[in-house]
Amino acid sequence: MREFVYNAAPARILFGSGTRQRLPDEAERLGLERLLVLSTPDQEAVGRSIAEILGSRATGLFSGAVMHTPVAVTEEALAVIAASKADGVVAVGGGSTTGLGKAIALRTGLPQIVLPTTYAGSEMTPILGETEGGLKRTQTTAKVLPGTVIYDVDLTLSLPPSISSVSGINAIAHASEALYARDGNPVIELIAQEGIRALAAALPRIVDEPRNGPARADALYGAWLCGLCLGAVGMALHHKLCHTLGGSFDLPHAETHTIVLPHALSYNAQAAPRAMACNASALGSKDALSGLSALLERLKLKRSLAEIGMPETGISRAADLATANPYWNPRPVERDAVYELIRRAYAGEAPRADF
Ligand code: NAD
Repeated sequence: MREFVYNAAPARILFGSGTRQRLPDEAERLGLERLLVLSTPDQEAVGRSIAEILGSRATGLFSGAVMHTPVAVTEEALAVIAASKADGVVAVGGGSTTGLGKAIALRTGLPQIVLPTTYAGSEMTPILGETEGGLKRTQTTAKVLPGTVIYDVDLTLSLPPSISSVSGINAIAHASEALYARDGNPVIELIAQEGIRALAAALPRIVDEPRNGPARADALYGAWLCGLCLGAVGMALHHKLCHTLGGSFDLPHAETHTIVLPHALSYNAQAAPRAMACNASALGSKDALSGLSALLERLKLKRSLAEIGMPETGISRAADLATANPYWNPRPVERDAVYELIRRAYAGEAPRADF
């Protein structure tokens, strides 16, 4: 018999094509009349189009969201909220924009509606990571959970294939670690496998044909499921490493996940055979490591942390940081082995087979 605890976070999900047009109805349902739209500078035009859909319920657009949710940017947005007397926020974008919406909700209690445009999955989690003075601090609180998430496949059509691929692997990383989570459960196991399956099948099709609607729909569906996993159970060594590497060397989030994942899974493979078997079956491969490797090859992604800007002198520091205060992991977190893992990921070598 398998004992487990299953905690479901409340959420209302709308999924489809053109679903952003239902935004005014959702705002009305929540009793919101003065919504501030949030976006990154790159996605200002899509932010403006969302404000147009909201019509008289939009108070304006704040297009200053950036990666890792700097507190200084949140403060700028809070000033706009105060001046416009907004009663809610609409975040349209990837994890950076969702993060800003969450940071605002944490400080004001304002409701959020999120329209995700990448596969990062932040919209499904009670997790918020913020940076201040060069340090990233992560907290988990139900106060930042978006109540309503509108997945509109059309908003993802413009995501460049290379970002789609790394963002999709970022999502697969959530589900992969959920499969061996200490607090895992049968529901999350099913969701994780379906999320990996959907993304692994969709990403190669997106690379071949970025505006392929059915492939985009499968990828966004998979991303939702993988985000659910991230929000529901604890993550392990892989997420700890990416958090440490991203925070210490300002590395791009999804690319870091993509490079580290095969190494982290290889580190944990022998300690988590059941999770690896589930992962393999979701990837449609005889074993998870070769299935993931084939997918990364097919997507032609960067495989070395050096290529995305990590300094060689950082390997030792990252190994110290990642092992000083580790997350729970199916296999004990050992400094020398983690050093070797990071060294290989830095150099773009194959994961160690005999970990
Ligand atoms: P992002 O939000 O920074 O987006 C990457 C780039 O792609 C941006 O320039 C953005 O403007 C652009 N973009 C996004 N969608 C687009 C689209 N459809 N078409 C064209 N361009 C588009 O990147 P991300 O990987 O989604 O999010 C990363 C951030 O999210 C990090 O700060 C990370 O820590 C955070 N995150 C948090 C959680 C959580 O649960 N708290 C989960 C995952 C990621």
